[in-house]
Amino acid sequence: MSVAIYPGSFDPIHRGHLDIIVRAARLFEVLVVGVAHNPTKQPLFGPEERAEMVREAVEGITGVRVETFEGLTVAFARRHGARVIIKGLRATMDFDAEMKMAMMNRRLAPEIETLFLPTSPEYADLSSSLIKEVARLGGDVSALVPPAVVERLVAKVGRSVWTASWNS
Ligand code: ADP
Repeated sequence: MSVAIYPGSFDPIHRGHLDIIVRAARLFEVLVVGVAHNPTKQPLFGPEERAEMVREAVEGITGVRVETFEGLTVAFARRHGARVIIKGLRATMDFDAEMKMAMMNRRLAPEIETLFLPTSPEYADLSSSLIKEVARLGGDVSALVPPAVVERLVAKVGRSVWTASWNS
């Protein structure tokens, strides 16, 4: 059985992530989305809540499972019998950081390959941090994230002007 993992913070999941999940799910029998719990980071949403939002977003996509994990990505991959780590790439800045990570992961686990999928151009500007910032400032992000995220973002950052457009 071909298994891949797709690790990330997903704080929160957005349309760019979802696009990578849909495309990666076509390449493997099982795709395990790994929601990283990194105690040194200060995410807006807790790991379980982030995983819950991903679960709701991927409902109906065949072969996709969602789990939280702590520790090394390669250890998470090995636990699932995955030979491939999927990473999405937006721009050259992603490439530099992801390349370093891929090389280190290869040292740690030579049997596991990192596979880069280029972003679809319509999502190239999306990042969780920018989405959170825009939402905090009252901008409408409802077209950029799945519906389950819209509701939770509103609950976290407070009701703001864009709830009106999301309801209409
Ligand atoms: P971010 O906070 O930057 O959205 P994550 O750690 O949640 O980052 O991202 C998980 C994975 O998804 C990474 O491989 C990242 O490069 C990729 N990714 C993030 N945003 C996009 C996007 N808009 N298009 C394609 N891949 C993306």
